[in-house]
Amino acid sequence: MEKERMRTAGRALRDDDLDLCGAEGGGRAPDMPYLAAGDSFAFQCAGCGGCCRGREDLVLSGYDLYRLSRRLGLPPRITARAFCRSHIGAVSRLPVLRLAPVKTEGNNCPFLSGGRCAVHEARPLACALYPLGQEISRDGTVRYYFQKTSCGGKAFRATLADYLAAQGVAERESCDVLWATRCMELEQQAPGWEAALGPVILRRFQAKLADALYYRFDTVRPWAEQFCENLAWLAGERARLEAMQQTLLSKK
Ligand code: SF4
Ligand code: SF4
Repeated sequence: MEKERMRTAGRALRDDDLDLCGAEGGGRAPDMPYLAAGDSFAFQCAGCGGCCRGREDLVLSGYDLYRLSRRLGLPPRITARAFCRSHIGAVSRLPVLRLAPVKTEGNNCPFLSGGRCAVHEARPLACALYPLGQEISRDGTVRYYFQKTSCGGKAFRATLADYLAAQGVAERESCDVLWATRCMELEQQAPGWEAALGPVILRRFQAKLADALYYRFDTVRPWAEQFCENLAWLAGERARLEAMQQTLLSKK
């Protein structure tokens, strides 16, 4: 995988370079064709693990964190504490979680072990997709595109539909669509809560946001229904905190 796509102007990525949609400058480039279900594509991979090394850009969805937590047998908050770092997205204004690169190992992914992925069956969407990319629009339309690689090794050829099925992407697509579309809705609401809440209560609400998006999940229960419950809970928390803010202002 071309590492230049993980860097911005040759420097290490900063939090502000990454948002829920991925790295600044990432996404589909004009030379990356969209694929229909029956379209085939070819690439080569030597299985060297190079695309897991020097990684600073692996943004997780709430569903990614849930799957990793279920695989590790840990609550999502503990998984995040152990393997992730978080910030507020510069554009989305939503909490952004990414896998914390291991600085003492050349910024490798924390799950790279002995040249292999220690969480292969629960690897994040971006890893399962590669060399494909995914776009989800506000109305939930999903499109996939092919990112050319410069790798050598064993040649693979597949149709889009077969590749998505083989990598476990097809079976998780409905959860990824739910995540993306709800996050886009929240992103549109963000200016409203940022205007309504002062700095202290805003930080409390941002913690609630992180709970709703990432942490308030029981890995024994299905993710999607909990996500919908969390969003309803979050709406109540927002109303409660906005009322608290109004009370504080009225006492000044
Ligand atoms: S050869 Fe395969 S494992 Fe190695 S960097 Fe390329 S895509 Fe990744
Ligand atoms: S989660 Fe696994 S596949 Fe993804 S970068 Fe880390 S080691 Fe590689």
